[in-house]
Amino acid sequence: MTETRKLSSLKHLAKRYARANRITQHQALDLVAGKLGFANWIKLVSACKNEWMPDSDQMASIEAFVAHALPAADFRTGHPEILTRRFAYLEQAEHGTIGDHAYRLQVIFHDVVVAGDGWSIKVPENLGAAPIVETSTENDGRCPVFDPEFLQEALSLARERAIQVRGEISTNWPRRSTKPDLDGVVRHPLWGSDSDVWFCLHCNGKITGAQIAQSLWHCPACGASPLDIFDTAFWCEEGGESLRPMKTNGAVDRAEADFCVVDDKPRLDLNEEKIILLIRSALLEDATNISEKLGALRAEINVDDENDVCIALEEDLWPQDKEPIKALIVAAQLGLEVEFESMWSTIPFAWPGLGEGTASTSEYTQMMLDAYAQHGASPDTET
Ligand SMILES: [Zn+2]
Repeated sequence: MTETRKLSSLKHLAKRYARANRITQHQALDLVAGKLGFANWIKLVSACKNEWMPDSDQMASIEAFVAHALPAADFRTGHPEILTRRFAYLEQAEHGTIGDHAYRLQVIFHDVVVAGDGWSIKVPENLGAAPIVETSTENDGRCPVFDPEFLQEALSLARERAIQVRGEISTNWPRRSTKPDLDGVVRHPLWGSDSDVWFCLHCNGKITGAQIAQSLWHCPACGASPLDIFDTAFWCEEGGESLRPMKTNGAVDRAEADFCVVDDKPRLDLNEEKIILLIRSALLEDATNISEKLGALRAEINVDDENDVCIALEEDLWPQDKEPIKALIVAAQLGLEVEFESMWSTIPFAWPGLGEGTASTSEYTQMMLDAYAQHGASPDTET
């Protein structure tokens, strides 16, 4: 890479960083210069004139730094060293521990989720929405999220990543979408229209360009997504003229998280369908030959309101004196009374006794086909 290209590539990186963090380009240039040990960008440029050039390691570190699009807050107050530490912290944040508690961190459709055993914390993409803490139990002293210190640490971890995610989103948007011009005009990141006033289809909010840019195109009042934000309130008769402007100065991360207990333990709903499934499975175990297997498959099993079971078995397929022992055991386990009945219906194949001689379906199939053939009829025409 030539000297000039290195310099212009640094400029390009600074530009991307500026966009991701919604700061001015010269702030970003100074930040990049700071990362390379200069007081500001002008100092860096004059060093270049004196034949200083970033080496490839330095270029790579700036690239990585920009790729992680750290938040503007750090830039304003921060020191390059703090940023570097934070960068390292974020890099290893996918799996980690807080105290003795392991967690994993994931980004799911722009929402950041930190989760561990029996708890999860979601920081939604929408800056105005409160983080959601989910646990499987009320506070029984075991789940770490009820410890305020733990919660704060986990929350800040998720928020750090959320800032990065938002930065990545806005990097892909037009610059004007996140940086209002002097008249407060911003460009819709999806529709591309320019305006200094915007309307939320969801809550009828009237939002300034600065507000909507700051909240990354989510409604500051109701959190509606950029898809619901328009430059005219076309759904109102007078185009939204009378709608009252929104008071908020744009959304900020809400300090408080919403807690909810989610019972995700598997729950057994022993309904008729499941009872029938278990009983039929047991009947199949009781069946020792193909006739009985067909009998088990075709058995009519009914469960009444008291959850008692009536099993009707085809007389031609299931011997009348054969007790389905396994089915009785399963019924007893489920606390069900069982009643047996015999039934007579049209059985699927002629000569039901054929199946009594084998436990192999393919062997039975062949015998059945042969029997039909011997009687000069195909199974299709026989009734
Ligand atoms: Zn709204």
